[in-house]
Amino acid sequence: MSEDCLFCKIASGEMNADMVMENDQVLAFRDINPQAPTHVLVIPRAHIPTLNDLTPDNATVISEMYLAAQEIARQEGISEAGYRTVFNCNSAAGQTVFHLHLHVLGGRQLDWPPG
Ligand code: AMP
Ligand code: ZN
Repeated sequence: MSEDCLFCKIASGEMNADMVMENDQVLAFRDINPQAPTHVLVIPRAHIPTLNDLTPDNATVISEMYLAAQEIARQEGISEAGYRTVFNCNSAAGQTVFHLHLHVLGGRQLDWPPG
């Protein structure tokens, strides 16, 4: 846990979020500023700041995050219509919270390429 990290606070229960699922490795909650009818963030319980901080020792959490995304899409009823998963890494990509998170977006037609 990192002291000043918003998502660590959500993971520890110190801050509230609209929780969608959780297990021992990851949790998922609705984005506070949704960009689509379904906009869920999947995060590892462990504090990993960005994609650049993945190592062979912690990278297995990525498969847990994608399995969670798949389950969330099924729960939200968007699996077959389609959905998008996005990692933003650092400022040029628009990362604003420096605790690794996977955006799961769906429920409408999503533009491609993104802006
Ligand atoms: P990123 O721009 O990839 O770093 O995404 C960070 C996301 O976190 C944004 O889409 C924010 O709307 C979202 N966010 C920030 N604070 C909260 C919060 N307290 N609960 C849920 N989502 C949040
Ligand atoms: Zn954190």
